[in-house]
Order: sequence, then structure tokens, then C-alpha cells
Amino acid sequence: MSLRAITYKTVFDIYSRINGFQAPQIWQFLEESQWWSSEEIRRFQDENLQKLIEYAYRYVPYYRRVMKEQELKPKDIQTTDELIKLPVLTKENFRNNWNELISTQANSSKTSIRKTGGSTGEPLRIMNDYSNGAWENAAFRRGLGFAGCKLGQPIIQLFGGTLGLAPESFLKKLKAKFSGVVFLPAFEISHDTVENYVRKIKQSKAQYLRGYASAIYLLAKIMEDVKLNISLRAVFPTSETLHGFQQETIEKAFQCEVFNQYGCGECNSIAIECTSHNGLHVSDEHVFLESLKDKERVLDREMGALTLTTLHNYAMPLIRYQNGDIISLSKALCSCGRSFSRITKIYGRANDLLLAKDGRLVSGTFLPSLCVNVDFKGVQQFQVVQETKDIIHLKVVKTPRFVESELGPLFEVFQRYLGDVKIEVEYVASIPRTPQGKLVFVISKFGNKLLHKEDKK
Ligand SMILES: [Zn+2]
Repeated sequence: MSLRAITYKTVFDIYSRINGFQAPQIWQFLEESQWWSSEEIRRFQDENLQKLIEYAYRYVPYYRRVMKEQELKPKDIQTTDELIKLPVLTKENFRNNWNELISTQANSSKTSIRKTGGSTGEPLRIMNDYSNGAWENAAFRRGLGFAGCKLGQPIIQLFGGTLGLAPESFLKKLKAKFSGVVFLPAFEISHDTVENYVRKIKQSKAQYLRGYASAIYLLAKIMEDVKLNISLRAVFPTSETLHGFQQETIEKAFQCEVFNQYGCGECNSIAIECTSHNGLHVSDEHVFLESLKDKERVLDREMGALTLTTLHNYAMPLIRYQNGDIISLSKALCSCGRSFSRITKIYGRANDLLLAKDGRLVSGTFLPSLCVNVDFKGVQQFQVVQETKDIIHLKVVKTPRFVESELGPLFEVFQRYLGDVKIEVEYVASIPRTPQGKLVFVISKFGNKLLHKEDKK
């Protein structure tokens, strides 16, 4: 182990002892449990779920009320299968019952509040136990290890950072230094700055790169344009849907494999790919995942609303929480020997799903891929909005070279995927990014059908 890794581990160990949780033990535990059988994982989940339900019933007013309304006692939910007796927690419920979701035992000196991005621009706040933070951190580090990235090895992080609006805390800077993290801003990548980025990555001696999928892609694409490349060991795109064409460009620019990661602000470190690239391994010891349609669990590999239960966040337990993402899951074993469940596909947010003429929900992820296969010289950007059945609203940002016939291939693809829908085109000056700087290709209200909505009384 490198000197930097030893220092980081020692400091983290002392810090965790002071704050009453056991980070080194959790790290060690996760290193071993990754080789458990499905049965062992299931038993661990059931045991931890029982504890959490018992606790939530006693100390979390929201769950106590919900369980009473459903005439449930903790003994009625002993296994992850029995969890379906509880209603899901929608984002709306979460916002409306924020105070009630906090444990009456939560100790403000041992918790932190984390703000999440929220694609609609309304941030959510999560109260996180320090010990849950240690589970997230350990699951994250273990996931990087799937790709060979060890603790203390330098890793470039390409994220939004604070955008210069708020100074990073001293502790965060210190933590970054000892964990080997080198931050580069995600929103300043351009043809003018690309050489600077490449130089900084080379200087850092980092062999690993992690960041927003779109930011890594943009960097890779510009590197390709100006004929630059860097040889890394692995790239970890996260936070956004990774499209096939993006992955190809990234692999070429950085001459290495891409390991897709998945998490959300409400629950970090949910899943990551292994070297088999056979879906993303879920950190089953940290979070229990379900995929639901019409309140029922869907079959292996079928599209459904991601529904998560955090197993260790006692300050603010999230039980059957739906973050709005649509995924498919599988329990089938992976050739790498790990028995974790796997996210076999991330369809994006419910808002990304378009309604076809025949009533099927179709992932809008075919649209970004289209941009690669068709050379849109006159189209700088586009966005698809579907608010009404049978009508697609297409917003287009033109360049001076635009000719109307360029939209032909777009119309053809819409017809192929969605059937005979009407397309209304609107030319706009720009398409705004989300407050987190993300580009959104599709905005549709029809994917919400997969999410459980409270019956209005
Ligand atoms: Zn695997």
C-alpha cells in the first residue's frame, strides 16, 4: 500500500473513531463480502432490513404513521420480499414529509446534510449519518477497485465543483489530497482549453478519470478533433446516461476500458461495472434495489422504476424511495464471480421515456446516438418535448449552415421508433442546461406512468 493510502486510511480511521463509526471495519467487510454467495447477501440484507424497520417504526415519525395506517408492525417485514407491504416513498412525499422523515434520535453532531442536484432544479436535502457516509465511501472505493484503482492512486475528477461560487472547505481539500483526487472543472472544456486539460492530467500522473459522462465525452471528442490522446487505465463516467457512441469516443481518446457508475444524490455508490462489463454490480450490502411497474416488482431485465432502500442511514431512512430513474435489474450471476444483483440497463429518468403511437414507452436514448450517425452540420443542438400523446415538439438550435432537409433523418428515426407521431418543429436560440450543467435531450411526461403516484383523495 502506498504511503498516501496509509496516511489516508489512518486519518480516516482516527476521524471515524472520534465520530463513533467504524470505517476501517466497513472497508474490510466490503472487501470480503464481495465474494459472498447470493444467499449470504440476501441474509445480510434481511437482517439489516429488520433492524432498520424496527428502528424506523420506533423513531421515524413518517414511517410510524405509514405503518400504522397500513396496520403493519415491524415483525410483518422480516425480509426484502416482505418489503412490498410498505408503500413507496415518492419524491413528492419526501419533500412534503421532510421533517417527519428524520429520526427523533438523529444527532446533529454525527450527521451531515447533503443537497442533491435534482434535474428539475429543485434540490433535495438528505440527512446522512456519518456511518452511512462510511458505507458509501467504502462501496465507492471497492467499486473503483473492480477496475484496478487502488486507494491513494491519483484519480482525476471532472465535475462541476463549486463553480467558484463557494470555497471548498479545508477538510475537503485535505481529504482530496490524501485520497489522491485531482479536481478539474467540468464546465470549462473547450477547444481553447483542451491542451491545458491534457497537460494537467499528464502532470498528475493519474491513471484514472471519473466525472460527468457528458463532460468526459466532450473532453474526449475535442481531444479526437485536435488529435490528442492520453493512455489511462480506466475511465468512470457517472451522473448521466452514458450513450454507446460516447463510450466509443472515450475509449479511443483515453485508450482504456470504460466502467459505468451509477448513484444519486439521495444515495451514493449504488452500482458500478466490473471487468466483465455485464451490467452494473449493485452494492447490495449498502442499498436494496427493486424495479417496479404498477406497484409490482418486474421480471429480470424488464423496465421499471428504480426503488431503493438505504440499509444504513438511520438519521433519515429512505425505504422504498423512487428517485425517478428507470432501470432494469437482474439477479443472474456475473462471470467475475461476484453474486451482487446487477443493473442491466439504465433507461434514464422517467422524463426520458417517449410514448409511441402504439402505447409502448421508448427510451429517448436513441436520439443522442443519432447525432453521431448523422452529420448534422446545421443543427447545433436539439431537444424533444412530449406533453401530448401523438405530438412530438422538436426544439432546434440552428447554425448558419442549416438547411431544412437536415431534419429528414430525425423525422425518419422518430417514425421508426415511435410510429406515426406528428412532429412540430420550433427554432430556438438556445436550449438551457439544468442548473447542474447537464444537457437534456428529452422531456416527456409519459414515463411517469411507471412511477407510483399517490391516489388523490
Ligand atoms: Zn461482475
